[in-house]
Amino acid sequence: MTLLSNALSKASSRVIARSIGEATRLGRSVEVLELTSSADLVCANMMCEKLGEPCICRLHRVLERTPNVTTLLLAKNKLSQIPSSVWSLEKLEVLDLSDNYLTEMPHEMAQLGNLQTLNVSRNRLEGLGDWRQRLNNVQIIQ
Ligand SMILES: [Zn+2]
Repeated sequence: MTLLSNALSKASSRVIARSIGEATRLGRSVEVLELTSSADLVCANMMCEKLGEPCICRLHRVLERTPNVTTLLLAKNKLSQIPSSVWSLEKLEVLDLSDNYLTEMPHEMAQLGNLQTLNVSRNRLEGLGDWRQRLNNVQIIQ
């Protein structure tokens, strides 16, 4: 909770999107993407094998259009995967993945050179992985 409120108070003067539709519309100006417990992460794509289930297909596409995101809040979405477009968010400082179903943190995490705070608490992680050594300054909540 502290992470979320800190992230949001810090974000008060920034451009915030609270749905995928809003993020799509605001595009490059989005700095904070707040999708905690979001219905937008339940798949509605008839072509996707995860139709009706938690899915990252829409999130993946929208993140390709929002390269200036500094805060990405994805808690409580039953996610078992992180969309690969996250690794291209060069300005990302805060990543909240708490309360999901993640089993591993990919080595691509090392690409997030500006990351300051990562919340991975309440997932299904066995460990964090090798990338941890490359990101010394990240505050990790697990
Ligand atoms: Zn899908």
